[in-house]
Amino acid sequence: MTRSTPTSRSTSDYVIATMGSHTALQILHGARQEGMRNLVVCKKGTERAYKSYGVADEIILVDDWSAWEAIEGELVKRNAIIIPHGSFIAYMGHDRVNDMRAMYFGTKGILEWESDRTMERQWLEAAGLKLPRVFATPEEITKPVIVKFHGAGGGFGYFVARSPEQFHEVKDRKYPDQNDYAIQEYIVGVPIYAHFFQSALTGALEIMSFDKRYESNADSIGRIKAEDQLAANIHTSYTIVGNIPVVIRESLLPAFFTMGERVVEESKKLKGAEKGLFGPFCLECIVTRKLEIFVFEISARIVAGTNPFTMGSPYSWLKYDEPMSTGRRIAREIKQAIEGGKLQEVLG
Ligand code: AMP
Ligand code: AMP
Repeated sequence: MTRSTPTSRSTSDYVIATMGSHTALQILHGARQEGMRNLVVCKKGTERAYKSYGVADEIILVDDWSAWEAIEGELVKRNAIIIPHGSFIAYMGHDRVNDMRAMYFGTKGILEWESDRTMERQWLEAAGLKLPRVFATPEEITKPVIVKFHGAGGGFGYFVARSPEQFHEVKDRKYPDQNDYAIQEYIVGVPIYAHFFQSALTGALEIMSFDKRYESNADSIGRIKAEDQLAANIHTSYTIVGNIPVVIRESLLPAFFTMGERVVEESKKLKGAEKGLFGPFCLECIVTRKLEIFVFEISARIVAGTNPFTMGSPYSWLKYDEPMSTGRRIAREIKQAIEGGKLQEVLG
């Protein structure tokens, strides 16, 4: 469903809105820093953080996310501009996001490309990025692989195997009923998540920051000896618990800029996503000891790895000389769009 975009050039006629989870604190704080009003929609019982940090002008409570549509009229009335994030997409699903009437920051059509592994791969390969090999069936496994269940919440349930037998040993025992998975070559290296911001207004690409994830138990099994791991029959899992800031080797920066640019360029050719990718996005990479950069996923929206940078990152300091989180960068883009009469350009 579409609605006409308001034409007011006064930022006070709009409110930046998001769902209470994931990166909401940063998004709300960033809106404040840019002098814009904000609101957060929380599931009852999860509003504590937004109250405690005092970052929200308004908190709307719902019993459940199925009630989103019931409050959407309120959001439309307030000229709310919705900022999507990981939890928003996870809880709403992309069909409901597509049907949303409230203003939406970003290109909705990209969501389908991002959430379908085959389409995502097509996009990233067309952009010339290096991707881990995929194995169509467990029987083809000839080297270490990582098995990812579709829609796995924050890495939960991922496991590593190095043969068809090992695959079945874990899958059949622990996840007998889950048959929607992808088998990806396990890349040995360090995970690096690169956070970009593509301005729809200026066409410029910025690198905002980098992070690595803090995952349970992948980040703790190294604390016990290999033989104890074997004795305890511990399987590696990747449940996301938090995020750790990273500054990368400076000579790698040009490669990351090029990768980001190619992904944006290629996004303009994606069916149903004519405006292309803009706003925040993240390339999820593994960098090997030979400094090859493999991309295993793209998130076409703000990622939680930007959360350590509420007051900016070393990179945003270089560019802005003032605190500039990704949340604030989004608000600034929206503010400039409103004031320049170009709001439609940042909405999807
Ligand atoms: P939550 O609202 O924290 O339960 O998260 C909802 C979804 O957002 C999860 O299924 C994750 O996929 C994603 N998510 C939440 N926090 C993070 C994070 N720190 N890093 C990556 N993904 C996250
Ligand atoms: P994801 O939920 O897809 O972002 O992945 C969760 C974690 O799994 C990442 O942080 C990595 O540590 C790990 N991972 C994902 N794909 C690969 C891969 N192809 N090779 C090695 N590690 C991976």
